[in-house]
Amino acid sequence: VKEQGKNGYLFYTSEMNDRPLERITLENDMRIALTKEEFELFYQPQVDMNSQQIVGVEALVRWNHPERGLISPGDFIPLAEENGFIVALGTWVMEEACRQNMKWQNIGLPPIPVSVNLSVRQFEMKNLAETVRDVLIRTGLEPRYLDLEITESMTLDVSRASHILKKLKDMGVAISIDDFGTGYSSLHYLKNFPIHRLKIDRSFVRDLEHDPNDAAIVSAIIALGHNMNMQVIAEGVETEDQLLFLQKHRCDEIQGYYFSPPLSCQRFEELFRRHCKQ
Ligand code: C2E
Ligand code: CA
Ligand code: CA
Ligand code: CA
Repeated sequence: VKEQGKNGYLFYTSEMNDRPLERITLENDMRIALTKEEFELFYQPQVDMNSQQIVGVEALVRWNHPERGLISPGDFIPLAEENGFIVALGTWVMEEACRQNMKWQNIGLPPIPVSVNLSVRQFEMKNLAETVRDVLIRTGLEPRYLDLEITESMTLDVSRASHILKKLKDMGVAISIDDFGTGYSSLHYLKNFPIHRLKIDRSFVRDLEHDPNDAAIVSAIIALGHNMNMQVIAEGVETEDQLLFLQKHRCDEIQGYYFSPPLSCQRFEELFRRHCKQ
């Protein structure tokens, strides 16, 4: 018993010692990674419910780590948010997404908005609106082809945030609420912010066909959005039954594996060519 206890303890301490070290390396790695161009954007199509054409695209960041391989955002975004690196990374993501979107327009693909995820830390910067404006000027993208996704989990100072969001709206940038329904300030956001689109969270879509509560929530969100003159998109759509439900309730757009997972830039471009009015 003592042996086991000792082993258990040793194992435990070595874990405790390794973790912070791991973290520190990862933090340093992140900062270096930006200059070494190890971050890459993947693109997931947003599809019009009726025409089945690609009418938008979400940019999702990946990290090509030299030793660890492709790291998903779930494994480094929380850390980047904690240590503040997300501000620099977020600006890079925005600029890269806008530049790529401009390229697609320049080769003759139909103009569509690119959605970029914003972290609450980016709202804490004094100059978020100016940063966005500078990115648009540098890349030449028209503001209406940039959509900023904000989440309700953000503990935002509502009056500050609504001031910034109003500036962005006046510039012509679109604002979506991401993961709608999972936070606790959803309705507060709708009341105070200039929102043009709701994204129904994947957790409500997943069991749509089997869970009457989810079905009720989803149809209510669609109706709410439409009553407030907003577009509604469902994320995490994986099955035809989910699609049919959403179609029946007049959801405007869908995003999810049913149509396509996030793709590399090149592969998204190929898909886009096949699913757009030329
Ligand atoms: P999100 O913004 O809710 O993005 C949607 C996530 O759901 C993506 O995961 C996507 O790959 C995944 N997904 C899409 N369709 C389906 C589906 O049909 N089924 C299932 N099971 N999953 C689906 P990903 O790319 O791993 O991103 C995870 C999260 O990381 C994002 O959630 C977002 O919150 C964050 N993130 C990604 N890129 C950025 C970024 O550039 N900045 C910030 N601040 N956060 C980012
Ligand atoms: Ca998102
Ligand atoms: Ca989401
Ligand atoms: Ca999410």
